[in-house]
Amino acid sequence: MGTRSDASVSHGFDDVMALAIRGSGTGIWDRDVLTGAIHYSDGWAEILGYRPEEISSRIEDSYQRVHPDDLAYVQATMRDHFEGLTPSYEVEHRLRCRDGSYKWVMSRGRVVSRDQAGRALRMVGTTSDISSIRSLTDQLHQSIALMTNLTNEVPGLVFQCRREPDNTARLTYASARIEEIYELTAAQVALNTAAIHERIHPDDREMYLATLAAATAGLTPWHCVFRVLLPVQGLRWRQVDAHPLRLPDGATVWHGLVVDATARKRMEQELHDLARVDHLTGLPNRRAFTERMEDVWRSMQDGASPQIVMAMIDIDHFKAINDQYGHATGDGVIRHVASVVMETLRSTDDTGRVGGEEFAACLHEIDLTQASAIAERLRLAIADVPVRVGGHTIAVTASIGISEMYETDVSSDDALARADMALYFAKKNGRNCVALATPGERGMGVEAALLPR
Ligand code: GH3
Ligand code: MG
Ligand code: MG
Repeated sequence: MGTRSDASVSHGFDDVMALAIRGSGTGIWDRDVLTGAIHYSDGWAEILGYRPEEISSRIEDSYQRVHPDDLAYVQATMRDHFEGLTPSYEVEHRLRCRDGSYKWVMSRGRVVSRDQAGRALRMVGTTSDISSIRSLTDQLHQSIALMTNLTNEVPGLVFQCRREPDNTARLTYASARIEEIYELTAAQVALNTAAIHERIHPDDREMYLATLAAATAGLTPWHCVFRVLLPVQGLRWRQVDAHPLRLPDGATVWHGLVVDATARKRMEQELHDLARVDHLTGLPNRRAFTERMEDVWRSMQDGASPQIVMAMIDIDHFKAINDQYGHATGDGVIRHVASVVMETLRSTDDTGRVGGEEFAACLHEIDLTQASAIAERLRLAIADVPVRVGGHTIAVTASIGISEMYETDVSSDDALARADMALYFAKKNGRNCVALATPGERGMGVEAALLPR
């Protein structure tokens, strides 16, 4: 209660208002529409760097100060308001300052009296200096343009994704390459990412979602290579790498990149195949054959107990062929024997080139008697037809050792080692013959026996 006597009390309310408005970088104007006279507050003149007496009160002069590019728009906005089409006049434009530079301002006004016909008589308004806001806005636009231009040049989809605690997600930013990566538009995933999930290969979808869920839960980087099925490009490989940020509301924001991994995957596959194929014969090489045998042994351990017979085939006195006809001709002989092996065995059997002039075979679902017959047929097929290579006709024979694979074998190597033992036995017993490994007496060790020709 009581009276206060500080200095501010001596100012009237209108004075305080005027000072406050002036201090905020806003000027006031008052226009007589009929006479074209316009009056400005001192603060208005100040915005443009004029002293109050330097500003004329002619509306024509005021239009002269508007930036030529903005004039038509300013006048049209004014006209709309005069005609009652808008409740108020409001426009951003540039005004020329005393020093010739332009300043961005926001002009707002309203017709405060009209004649009986509705024609505007008087209008009052404000002009605010918005140059600092405007330059911030310009900077913002430039930053957005820079980011968009840069991300559009990245060879992949640059994205920001917001994932809610209920696991719904939407792409809050997607660079232009989304159209190549997913054959979708940014608008199609702006509300949810379901359209992307539909593009993922059904066989990879579960893995894709599981790795994403794990990375979301652990707040760890997400890396995933997966296939997509696209309407135009068809089956392609994609790789995503993204980093998570947890927001206070529980949502997770991901920033990341999806690239085309198709070429790399194809190359990896080719390298993988290349590393498993023997160049000379086109047969699986030792490594590929050994891996295959491990699979066979494992499935036997898993209860599929088919009868399996392993065979080792080694060309006789091959060193002599090399010595006599040269290495290139020797290669031709190896190729020939490989083709005879492939022709003689069934297509369901596995074969491989496991050494210089050594081949291995795995005969499936077969007993030792049937396998022995096939081995004998193979021996004959090699021995009966001389090889014509490099202008020479060369008689070639091979020795063959065979052995069953047993469920008691501790690895696939066991069966191969027994077949090798039988092969050694065949070599020792005159070559060009088949020997089979048999379990030793009372299950002890292994013995070998020659098959009658
Ligand atoms: P055996 O009847 O006891 O099997 O005698 P072999 O001469 O066939 O056996 P050995 O292991 O002594 O010789 C094999 C030779 O095969 C030695 C090697 O120079 C040759 N060789 C290995 N790889 C290749 C190849 O890719 N091309 C050619 N031309 N020769 C090869
Ligand atoms: Mg050999
Ligand atoms: Mg040999």
